[in-house]
Amino acid sequence: MKFYDNHKSPNFDDRAKGEKVEIIVVHYTAMTSTEAVLEKFADKASKVSSHYLIGENGDIYQMVDEEKRAWHAGISSWNGKDDVNSRSIGIEISNRNGEPYTKEQLFALTILIKDIQSRHDVLPENIVGHSDVAPNRKQDPGEHFPWQKLSRHDIGRWPKPTIADKFNAAAVAKKPQELRALFRQAGYGVDGMKTKDLVTAFQRRYEQEIFKSTTAVPGDATATTVARLRAVARMNSFANKKPSSPSAPAKK
Ligand SMILES: [Zn+2]
Repeated sequence: MKFYDNHKSPNFDDRAKGEKVEIIVVHYTAMTSTEAVLEKFADKASKVSSHYLIGENGDIYQMVDEEKRAWHAGISSWNGKDDVNSRSIGIEISNRNGEPYTKEQLFALTILIKDIQSRHDVLPENIVGHSDVAPNRKQDPGEHFPWQKLSRHDIGRWPKPTIADKFNAAAVAKKPQELRALFRQAGYGVDGMKTKDLVTAFQRRYEQEIFKSTTAVPGDATATTVARLRAVARMNSFANKKPSSPSAPAKK
């Protein structure tokens, strides 16, 4: 694992006023090689970048300073606010969709995320995939990304549904309005988003077995989807609730 900061990208600007880093967005590059990505992000005309890029061998390239707004998430939303770029650090992992991530990459990613968290207040709940913040447009880091394994290092949280989460889950799976309310609590931007796209993004992360199944169809919520979504919604709304939120009426 080597670290390079001599491949800077010109594609960045200032974070929106008052915004600070509270989210980490994980991507795959879907390009043929790390060199091709370095070249693309160095090209002003591409208008894309990320703060960090992790090569196949685990080498880390810092391409944009953390204080600046890199252009990685595009039109996106998380926890009720858009402009995810202004609130996040973007990490691209060199990977063609469908290939497994290398051990070296996942090791480097873990070290890098811990390092970022030592400087910024990023909750495990706010370490997300590009597909979580743009479910209608994006699929990365894909259904091969080992979210469950990484959750052992507090990189994201893995849902552990309770008996209450499982209760009536198969029926709720068929109720789009209830699903959408849960997605909102879980952090997803729901407005203008198809329920099917939300379910697919969630399954890409939390129910990856669906993509290997010969009978289940990604985008169709299952009882498992609902149980895990309820658990994620509970964890997320608890962690992200601000002390000043007007949830409890003030005593007089
Ligand atoms: Zn992406």
